Amino acid sequence: MTSARLRARLVTLSRLGRAATALMALAAAAAPALAQEPVLNLYSARHYQTDEALYANFTRQTGIRINRIESGDEALLERLRTEGRNSPADVVLLVDAARLWKAQIEGLFQPLRSTTLQARIPPHLRGKDDGQGSEWFAVSTRARVIIHNRALVPADAVRRYEDLASPQLKGKVCTRSGAHPYMLSLIGAMSEHLGEAAAEQWARGVVANFARTPRGGDTDQIKAVATGECAVALTNTYYLARLMRSDKPQDREMMAAIGVILPNQASWGTHMNISGGGIARHAPHRDAAARFLEYLASDEAQRLLADGNNEWPAVPTVSVKNPALESLGKFRQDTLPVAQIGRAQVNAARIIDRAGWR
Ligand code: FE
Repeated sequence: MTSARLRARLVTLSRLGRAATALMALAAAAAPALAQEPVLNLYSARHYQTDEALYANFTRQTGIRINRIESGDEALLERLRTEGRNSPADVVLLVDAARLWKAQIEGLFQPLRSTTLQARIPPHLRGKDDGQGSEWFAVSTRARVIIHNRALVPADAVRRYEDLASPQLKGKVCTRSGAHPYMLSLIGAMSEHLGEAAAEQWARGVVANFARTPRGGDTDQIKAVATGECAVALTNTYYLARLMRSDKPQDREMMAAIGVILPNQASWGTHMNISGGGIARHAPHRDAAARFLEYLASDEAQRLLADGNNEWPAVPTVSVKNPALESLGKFRQDTLPVAQIGRAQVNAARIIDRAGWR
């Protein structure tokens, strides 16, 4: 709500003769910008149980209260665009380099010169460093891996992303829509490694191998591989780890039918993506926003962020204990910079259009 609209609403309420306490409650809930106590407005596409501890610890350490707006990535971006310079957002947390890069080029972030973040977050996990300071930073990482139905396709048939286009997988491959950010990032990375023309050839090969028209999210691909509707698919690792650690026996049973491949170990490594954030362009509490982002890179916050969604910390010196992720083993990670992956979605969008990967 804008301050003008809020003021109008407060005036209306007092005319109605409501109690002063009601006014104060409304102001506290709806108008953080007007409050005197230190506050931070967080727009987050992440929402996990451990995030409660994450935010409570920040408030305990700094005295800064956090107002959270939690929503899907697209809804948050739309809200930021609509609010424009009146946006109360201080920090924006989004999922996937494709979305973070899009937010950056739309001017939704502002520069942040932080020696702490530059020391803690590796350069390839930062959105941009053009001498003006980085605009966004990874707070956690995940891998995008190949899964296969053990009974239908041997692991050796799908050691590389390139293999998804192999003629021997005709009628066996499932993916979600190529237009989803997770796919745009992977296809963009393929075009960075292979060149756009070869990546398009590859995309055509994958499309020719489809077992069905792309549909559903990553968990739907996992289920379809478990039932054998698809023999091979792609998923982010946290969806796998979630099912491996599930309390429901049927989830763990499903995982028993599935093999996980960490692709491209003999070449550039497995595609990595991130969740991350930056300071909102019109942040009313810029200092609190910088402090919060630096806090997210602390050992304690990194562990909470990773554990909340079965991810890995973005800070390489922080380790987490996650039996499901550990069961995947140590692996070579692609270090293609996330800024480059984000930018490559422009090529990826062309490729999916031409290849019909929708
Ligand atoms: Fe996801």
